[in-house]
Amino acid sequence: MSDPSFDFLRLPLDAAAPKPRHRRQARVRWGANLLTVGGDAPVRVQSMTNTDTVQVIETAIQVKELAQAGSEMVRITVNTIEAAQAVPHIREQLDRMGVDTPLIGDFHYNGHRLLTEVPACAEALSKYRINPGNVGRGEKRDKQFAQMVEVAMRHDKPVRIGVNWGSLDQDLLASLMDENARRSTPWDLRQVMYQAVVMSALQSAEEARRLGMDPDQIILSCKMSGVQDLVSVYRALAKHCDYALHLGLTEAGMGTKGTVASATALSVLLQEGIGDTIRVSLTPQPGEARTQEVVVALEILQSLGLRHFNPSVTACPGCGRTTSTTFQELAKQIDDYLRLQMPIWRSRYPGVENLKVAVMGCIVNGPGESKHADIGISLPGTGEAPAAPVFIDGEKRLTLRGEGIAQDFQKLVEDYIERRFGTAAAETH
Ligand code: SF4
Repeated sequence: MSDPSFDFLRLPLDAAAPKPRHRRQARVRWGANLLTVGGDAPVRVQSMTNTDTVQVIETAIQVKELAQAGSEMVRITVNTIEAAQAVPHIREQLDRMGVDTPLIGDFHYNGHRLLTEVPACAEALSKYRINPGNVGRGEKRDKQFAQMVEVAMRHDKPVRIGVNWGSLDQDLLASLMDENARRSTPWDLRQVMYQAVVMSALQSAEEARRLGMDPDQIILSCKMSGVQDLVSVYRALAKHCDYALHLGLTEAGMGTKGTVASATALSVLLQEGIGDTIRVSLTPQPGEARTQEVVVALEILQSLGLRHFNPSVTACPGCGRTTSTTFQELAKQIDDYLRLQMPIWRSRYPGVENLKVAVMGCIVNGPGESKHADIGISLPGTGEAPAAPVFIDGEKRLTLRGEGIAQDFQKLVEDYIERRFGTAAAETH
């Protein structure tokens, strides 16, 4: 009999925090593809190309790769007249390839000029990123900012007012520093920096609204490169406005460092309901695909249970009981295989992203974990009989033996997917 004094341990099934307050919902559209950002929309994934935008084909191919990896919007650099002129051609190329992923233009310094001088660029983009720190100084700043906002309104495009602490509005920062110096007890300089970053975003948004911009079409971001800085700034931003928020740790770095720092910062905020679209700013390692930043972004959202993109593979870490690498190889093979198939499976097998596969290394946790998965295999540990029981829907169904265990298990996964998510399955429901 259970001890009633432990009833307090009836924990919530879903620890993900609800969004703390209503956020506005922006519309990012290309053709029939309408993506909502904010409000009750799922957290959107975006990425950025690193090709020279002038190279139309190369850029279109990278956009397609990022989109296939799961990026719902892709940002491209628009820094010269030639780049602006290339944008409509990139768009046409993508349309020809059947890729309707919205493109976002990233503008600094000359965005006002490029957007007005190349209207086809303004039309082909689905959203403009404006960095208030890089729009100009003094009177020019207001005029140039207004020009960009007016183009956005004319073409009915949302904007992201994207502050980056590395390119903060220097006039604003200088005035806040002066104000701080006059305080009887001056704030820590980092606090002044936080204030400047958030104020720059909020004031620019107010300015856009004064110019007539629909507040629903404004998305804000305040990117920092330190995890704690980002958390502090976004908490303040979320508290003081209801615009949809683009979230990302800027200049996260390479490999493990960049991945962990991004996941740490974004998870804290996403768990608090802060962030309506994310980008992971990874520096690709030599030879690494640009799509890695999308893979990480998807994993962050999926690990938090906020979205499901790919089937999950539960694999044990291995230990002294698994002296061979068989189970590591099998886990990787299955993981790679599922990821590779997903662009096709997404449309062929609706719901397949919820599939759970387990690949375990020995008898200790293998059968238990495999039973919790939709389909799981428990490989033999060192000294165990050379047999691998397979569990399907919580029941032990068969045992695989011999050299071809990996291929046999892959085939069982394929059959399971066809049976559960294929057309025949859909027809019987
Ligand atoms: S399931 Fe077995 S092999 Fe895997 S970590 Fe646990 S004890 Fe080690």
